Amino acid sequence: MSGHAGALAPYACDPARSRGRRHAEPPAPTRNDHQRDRDRIVHSTAFRRLVYKTQVFLNHEGDLFRTRLTHSLEVAQLGRSIARTLRLNEDLVEAIALAHDLGHTPFGHAGQDALDECLRGHGGFEHNLQSLRVVDRLEQRYPDFDGLNLTFETREGILKHCTRRRAEELDAREPGGVARRFLEGTQPSLEAQLVNVADEIAYSAHDIDDGVRSGLLTLEQLEAVPLVARYLAAARADHPRLAGRRLLFETIRRLLSQLVYDVIDHTGERLRQLAPVDADAARRAPPLVGFGEATRAEVVALKRFLFQALYRHPQVVAKTNAGRQVVRELYAAYLAAPSEMPADYAQAVDLPRAVADYIAGMTDRFALREHQRLTGRAVFADA
Ligand code: MG
Repeated sequence: MSGHAGALAPYACDPARSRGRRHAEPPAPTRNDHQRDRDRIVHSTAFRRLVYKTQVFLNHEGDLFRTRLTHSLEVAQLGRSIARTLRLNEDLVEAIALAHDLGHTPFGHAGQDALDECLRGHGGFEHNLQSLRVVDRLEQRYPDFDGLNLTFETREGILKHCTRRRAEELDAREPGGVARRFLEGTQPSLEAQLVNVADEIAYSAHDIDDGVRSGLLTLEQLEAVPLVARYLAAARADHPRLAGRRLLFETIRRLLSQLVYDVIDHTGERLRQLAPVDADAARRAPPLVGFGEATRAEVVALKRFLFQALYRHPQVVAKTNAGRQVVRELYAAYLAAPSEMPADYAQAVDLPRAVADYIAGMTDRFALREHQRLTGRAVFADA
């Protein structure tokens, strides 16, 4: 986890030129500010909960599927590896990657959708905004401030999407802060752009693995997806006797490497052409980190395949629908009886938002236990 002092490209975010923290703090003696952000994230409560939160498969369905934690580690690994080659700020990439999913609810996107419905007319719920809320407010571990007091650059990377209306609200509270770019139409740092691409690479590859592991996807189906078929054929050609899981791993390994090389090549080329003089010039440029055109089209096709064949698979949908129901019923139960929550939440001025914060922080299994305690019903017999 070493830094890169002196080796950063001019357009990288230099920790020495950070826009700083919302609450001023003396520098750490042995770490730069982005290394310190990363360490704060790793030590946070929300980070530890990621281990029991659903990525695609519900946490109790098997021990070998990705969870939000292992997904975040894979994003960090891919992002750091690309950052090192492009001479971007590896520590910042790592910090953003490890924090990028902190705001996810239990039961994956179904949980988010349920909370968003519950909070309709009350500002809604969105996991990116929640990730920022976790690091800005909900973590409570320091004597002088709420949240982790992360640097602007890490928070900028965490706030990946934002509607215009929400950006206006955030910008009113923090003028010129992390939401401003959504009003100005500029990009986040190259490091933030890189984490988004690393996220895409990670889930595209690991959802193939988890999909086959679960029995919901087959190698035959994957042969119809050009991006996968190519590396499957190459793996078979080089290792004619390879079959089963090892064949799948070898295919995914080649796919991952090629996607990483593609991002490095095309991003490197765009950076050479545009040569942004510094990190802010890169923010004002068009998006620079990404795949080449041909690969982008193939990745889009792979994602479309995963959407139809895996995320919309009746078995996955049935489980996530049940997760959605758990979240909805938990929300109703706490709203009706706030004292069932810890005092901090029960006594909050904005009760609906406090209920959402409490539920969003839960792991899958804690949500199921609470749901059973409050409703007397078990939603998953196998949990
Ligand atoms: Mg992610």
